[in-house]
Amino acid sequence: MLLDGYTLMHEHIRIDLSKQKNNTDCLLDCKDETVAEFKKLYAKGIRNITDVTNIGMGRDVSYISSVSRATGINILCATGFYKEPFLPDYIYSYNEKQIAEIMIKEITEGIDGTDIKAQIIGEIGSSKECITDAEKKVFNAAVIAHKETGTPITTHTTLGLLGLEQIEIFKKQDIDLNKVIIGHVDLTGDISYILKIIDAGAYVEFDTIGKNNYLNDSIRIDMLKEIEKRHLIDRVLFSMDITRKSNMEYKGGIGYSYLFDSFFNELTEQGFSQTSIEKILKDNPRTYYGQTGKNT
Ligand SMILES: [Zn+2]
Repeated sequence: MLLDGYTLMHEHIRIDLSKQKNNTDCLLDCKDETVAEFKKLYAKGIRNITDVTNIGMGRDVSYISSVSRATGINILCATGFYKEPFLPDYIYSYNEKQIAEIMIKEITEGIDGTDIKAQIIGEIGSSKECITDAEKKVFNAAVIAHKETGTPITTHTTLGLLGLEQIEIFKKQDIDLNKVIIGHVDLTGDISYILKIIDAGAYVEFDTIGKNNYLNDSIRIDMLKEIEKRHLIDRVLFSMDITRKSNMEYKGGIGYSYLFDSFFNELTEQGFSQTSIEKILKDNPRTYYGQTGKNT
């Protein structure tokens, strides 16, 4: 479907990383509260959310579609595998082709026996220090699935690092980087690194907005202003990557509305243009998903 309105590019409707992280806060499964917050997002113009939760992360497509029905927000589902130690056991014995087949099936036939098809490959991730062998295998499988289906790819970088190494994998295999998002790069706070990724041709995702305990939003704002000054706004995407119950309003967290009620206000007060915000939320996701037509 043609994307109408604003799109958040990196969220998790339901996610469960609680076992590996040994923290029940990392099970986000508060459907009613999510619905309540998404209704507020709808009122602000959000019409699409990319859910980058994939196999092994607690993805639940029937849960996702009930949230979508209750809120009117179109949710784009993902296929793929995250990073160590969240990879299913079979990743270690399967070859790249076999892993790719799983992704291709979810893209062409549907996820978990439903007719809900994956529209994005990701978030495929790397560890902090290196891209491990198993993670490389997933990246190569994603490349195979992308080449066969044309489905775009989105990545996870740990603390924003190793984005250029991820790009190397894609470049070596002649992937069009217009179809690749490098995720979480805002967390580095390093504008020259981010500009290098843009220069290589990929999208950079400012998808941890509001996570001030990792990086103060004032630094995100400074970096965005620099990107705007260089006329490179068409390579940027936004999201908040809410993954924990404690991020939600009902638990006293900032909630999704923070983006509109706080961050965008601050951003424009600091001189960033509303036009650029619109472009990032509306035009860039459409272009990334290969939609050039204008909605009315
Ligand atoms: Zn991530």
